Amino acid sequence: MTIPQTMTAARMHTVGGELRLETLETPKPGDMDVLVRVKACGIVPNLGNILANWTTWFPHMPLPPLPAVFGLDPAGEVAALGRQVHGLKPGDRVYVNPGRSCGSCRHCRRGDPISCKHYAFQGYFGFSEHAMQTFADYPIGGLSEYMVAPVSAIVKIPDHMDYGQAARLGYLGTAYSALKKVNAGPGDTILVNGISGTLGIGAAIFGLAMGVNKILGTGRDKALLEEIKALAPNRVEVFSIADGSVTDFAMKHTDGEGVDAFHREKSPSERQLRGLRFSGS
Ligand SMILES: [Zn+2]
Repeated sequence: MTIPQTMTAARMHTVGGELRLETLETPKPGDMDVLVRVKACGIVPNLGNILANWTTWFPHMPLPPLPAVFGLDPAGEVAALGRQVHGLKPGDRVYVNPGRSCGSCRHCRRGDPISCKHYAFQGYFGFSEHAMQTFADYPIGGLSEYMVAPVSAIVKIPDHMDYGQAARLGYLGTAYSALKKVNAGPGDTILVNGISGTLGIGAAIFGLAMGVNKILGTGRDKALLEEIKALAPNRVEVFSIADGSVTDFAMKHTDGEGVDAFHREKSPSERQLRGLRFSGS
């Protein structure tokens, strides 16, 4: 695969400014990195709000230094490998996990990279000033022809999954991760507030696939709620919050005992933080 010296990327120069298509030098992978030729990139529902209103929404969390190439959840094909990468080959079809961490602190070592002080979403934002080092190491997001990520972030995708589908894995993974955290499975009843939203639909689909007995879902739009119920009419019950008390709805479907786990929507900023939204009841 011939790799051009330069590439086209979309860069934002000021918060709230437009993303400009510009010619940049094609990044080179470090020894443990992979160069990916991007075929698709996720656009999370809130991306526009985040980039336009960053300073008021997340004053304590840093964006990458501007101008920056954003883009969460890229998918594409392996274009080049670092010297010490041996399990992949050029042309492999991959998804890039955007979560970057240092890899060597006590949190990273015990498998909890989200607690790493260097943790950042490559191509999106970080969680403390230490994320600036992470952005310096991995500055390019997925709204670019090529991007570099560490080999530990590269996930091979099956032949039957197209790149557009793979670019949704990160967002779907939010609900999947949350359901795993609460050990959701056969015998459980879970409550998903906002089940007709992007995260809620993911929770419904994965909850069904993981064998959850009953999924209670709330929302506002009754037509959308009925679409969710149609996924599995015997296992999904839906309720419009315009029709009364969510607690009464949950109790009615659990013989008055309540649910085993629930998802709640809180502030917009909290909605953006992945994987931490299910709480045991
Ligand atoms: Zn770490």
